[in-house]
Parts: sequence; C-alpha cells; structure tokens
Amino acid sequence: MTQTAPPPTSTPETGPETWDAVVVGAGPGGLTCAAYLAANGKRVLVLEANQVVGGSTQVFRRAGNKFEFDVGTHYVGECGPGGRMQTALSGLALTERIKWLRQRPEGHCQIMIPGTTFQTPTGWDTYLERLIAAFPDEEAGLRRCVRVMRTIAAGERPRRRPWALLRWGVRPITTLMAACGLSADAQAVILAENGDYTWPPHRTPTAMHAGFLHHYLQAGAYYPRGGGQVIGAHLTDVVQSYGGRVRTKARVEQIVIED
Ligand SMILES: Cc1cc2nc3c(=O)[nH]c(=O)nc-3n(C[C@H](O)[C@H](O)[C@H](O)COP(=O)(O)OP(=O)(O)OC[C@H]3O[C@@H](n4cnc5c(N)ncnc54)[C@H](O)[C@@H]3O)c2cc1C
Repeated sequence: MTQTAPPPTSTPETGPETWDAVVVGAGPGGLTCAAYLAANGKRVLVLEANQVVGGSTQVFRRAGNKFEFDVGTHYVGECGPGGRMQTALSGLALTERIKWLRQRPEGHCQIMIPGTTFQTPTGWDTYLERLIAAFPDEEAGLRRCVRVMRTIAAGERPRRRPWALLRWGVRPITTLMAACGLSADAQAVILAENGDYTWPPHRTPTAMHAGFLHHYLQAGAYYPRGGGQVIGAHLTDVVQSYGGRVRTKARVEQIVIED
C-alpha cells in the first residue's frame, strides 16, 4: 500500500513524499519492522512521538550524565547462538554490531521481599531447587507449580502431562498458585518479574507467565554492550542506510484509511 505522508513530512524541494509503509513508533518493534521493510526494498517512514528513538529500550541520564538508567532493558533472553534475538538481528546483519553480554548465570535478577532474597538463576532445575530452599515448607506445592509451568512453557513431556496446557494454560497464574497452596511470599517471588509485561497476575494466563520465565531460564539472560540505546541506534541506522527516514518529535494523531 502506498501512503502519502502527512504535511509535516513534505519538503519544499520535493513536495509531498510517498512511502510504501509508514511505521508509527520507533520502539524496538516498530524499528525492527521498518528495518526489514527497508532492507527488502520498501520506502519506509518511521514517525516517533518522543525526541529520541528506542521506545522503552531508551536510556535517560541524570546529574549531568553522571548516572545512566535503562527504561526497559535490564535483561533479555534467547540472545545466545541460535536464540530468537540473534535470528531477528541476523536478517539485518546486526549480530556483529549488537553484542550481548551474558549476565551472571547464578543470578541475573535479585528479588528482595521482607525476609527473603532470591536470585533468579539459569535453568528450571536450579530455579526449583532455590525456591524449595527459600520456602522449604512448601516443597510439594512448589514442585507441582513449577512442573505445570515447565510443561507448558518448555514443552517437556507433553504426552505424559497433556492436561497441563489444557487445564492451566489460559487460567490465571494466581489460580494455579492457589491450587498449589503457595504462600503469599512464595507467590511474590515467582511473580516478582511480572512488571516486565505490566499485566496484573490475576489476569495473566499461566502460559504467559510460564513462557516469560522460560525466556530467561532456558539459556540465561543478556545485556547489550553499550546499553539499551544501541538497539534503537543500530536499527535506525539500517532503516536510514536503505533510504528510509526516521523522524522524532512526530506524534501521529490520526490514521486515515481510504478506499
Ligand atoms: C519498566 C519496564 C521494564 C522492562 N524490562 C524489560 C527487560 O528487562 N527485558 C526485556 O526484554 N523487556 C523489558 N521490558 C519490555 C520492553 O521494553 C518492551 O517489550 C519493548 O520496548 C516493546 O517494544 P515496542 O516497540 O513494541 O514498544 P515501545 O518500546 O513501547 O515503543 C513504542 C514507541 O511508539 C511511540 N509512540 C506511541 N504512540 C505514538 C504516536 N501516536 N505517534 C508516534 N509515536 C508513538 C512511543 O513514543 C515509543 O517510542 C520492560 C518494559 C518496561 C516498561
């Protein structure tokens, strides 16, 4: 579909510019989409409301650049060889430019609640062992809960446990935990990272939270060398190097669909 860009994207020299695709938002999703379209010969315009690209992967600084904070890139899974992240970046020749640093396998995330400090490790077995060590009185419930999540997310022994997905997959994760008799503290530790997908646990399907945990547990967590902003910067570079344009401070107010 050829789209005519809105007036602000016209230039006095060339008049209105036409684009094969207009992408709204220069977060990692929009930029990846735009980069693939541009690399495949499409004329692409990206419009970003913010003054910088990157969406939730951008960083911000305080105290005269003394401190740098990541908005949403604290740990990323599936970044090793053959991982989903590498697959996505390889089609754009970015695997050599965005380097992923492995975070500590013994604990890429530290969860602290009153009386308990829990380090999220790599591997479902170690994860279960640590949960039991933290809440020894709840071993049976923890084993059951982790078994269900692992079966759903990792697809382990689905024939022996066909009920796991059918029975629990779309039910809230809190329902599974309650059925396993887990205490509020044990639930808090298992759910602590749900801020990453910003959805309340009682409305989160078990399959979603289990999949989220598996994303990190299966092969560890990574962080991009140089901070989250390298993701947006390199994707923008791909878009531009194929003739696309990325405009910041360009909020889209309306999408008009004709014919
Ligand atoms: C606090 C927090 C922590 C997180 N931690 C992690 C983590 O550790 N690991 C991980 O993998 N993920 C993490 N995430 C999730 C990750 O950041 C997001 O999944 C990812 O950024 C989503 O990318 P996106 O491109 O879909 O959307 P976004 O990153 O949200 O980008 C959307 C872009 O669209 C722009 N936009 C919106 N409306 C308009 C408009 N009308 N016109 C023009 N532009 C518009 C926005 O300004 C924004 O730049 C975290 C998220 C948050 C919020």
